[in-house]
Amino acid sequence: MRSAEQLQNVAVIGTGTMGPGIAQIFAQGGLKVALYDIEEEQLEKASKAIQNNLKVFQEMGFLTLKEVDEARERITSTSNLEEAAKRADFVLEAVPEILEIKKSVLQTLDDLCPPDVILATNTSGISITEIAKATRFPARVVGMHWWNPPIIIPAIEIIKGERTDEETLAITKALATRIKKIPVIVKKDVPGFLGNRMQYALMREAIALLDEGVASAEDIDMMIKAGIGFKFPVMGPLETIDMAGLDIFYRVSQYLYPKLDQSSSPPAVVKEKVERNELGLKTGRGFYDYTNMNTQALMAERIKKLLIILREVM
Ligand code: NAD
Repeated sequence: MRSAEQLQNVAVIGTGTMGPGIAQIFAQGGLKVALYDIEEEQLEKASKAIQNNLKVFQEMGFLTLKEVDEARERITSTSNLEEAAKRADFVLEAVPEILEIKKSVLQTLDDLCPPDVILATNTSGISITEIAKATRFPARVVGMHWWNPPIIIPAIEIIKGERTDEETLAITKALATRIKKIPVIVKKDVPGFLGNRMQYALMREAIALLDEGVASAEDIDMMIKAGIGFKFPVMGPLETIDMAGLDIFYRVSQYLYPKLDQSSSPPAVVKEKVERNELGLKTGRGFYDYTNMNTQALMAERIKKLLIILREVM
């Protein structure tokens, strides 16, 4: 296998929400990227999104004009999978989170790419071991889970499937470092990996507190944004326990653990909202009402704030 430094050509398969940003970061890291999607329209949208995001990066001082041009020139689009795969020495799939689609894409890539080419999957939570079963060479299949928006969030989970080779894992980790991301190794292929397990534990509690009328949605979110979450870029949960003292944590846990939400199925309130098509930002209503709001401006504002944190803290 080639080392992370030797890799030159990446193929990104699927350019929906995640693919374009992932392609941009690979290109900013000096790699040539072939973007592939079954939908021609998605490739056009991806190219526009990359153009816009590179501009924001330049405006915020992350890239010079020259670096923007160079990154753009490294990205090509194609609606021919063979074309995308043939030169690739590293492939990342970001197709829909549906096992059958992922398996079929991996099976095709397994035939198109020589066995020393790593096949990475951006799955949010499907078992890497299960996806790898579609291939003849599961040792080269690895999870490479980027977070949304991929152009900003520094951490990438690198997940070892049951049959993933140590070399595959090490190269993927080194590649993440090469493109200036922060790799986090997930040693066991557990559902939700690291990030979603912790995130869903927090979201389950937030929804339960809202449902019980303990606080408003605004105050629940503010408790994280201006309270416990404010220190997250600097201190993780285990560092926080060390700072507070394990004796304090132990004492609080004794009375608090039994009171935390223990539900083992999705909350009824969410099910009802989904049935009413209250899906959040994209349908104008979720836990909040966005019907009279400029949601694009809201998202642009959020991205800007995240970029400031990225620049100042990471
Ligand atoms: P998406 O539905 O926005 O995009 C998927 C793209 O794949 C579409 O453009 C679609 O046309 C294309 N596609 C469908 N079948 C294909 C095929 N056979 N070959 C090539 N392209 C095909 O999905 P997304 O939100 O970008 O998610 C992609 C992956 O990333 C999923 O596994 C998802 O779980 C994961 N992920 C998503 C997020 C997120 O916030 N959206 C975050 C982290 C990880």
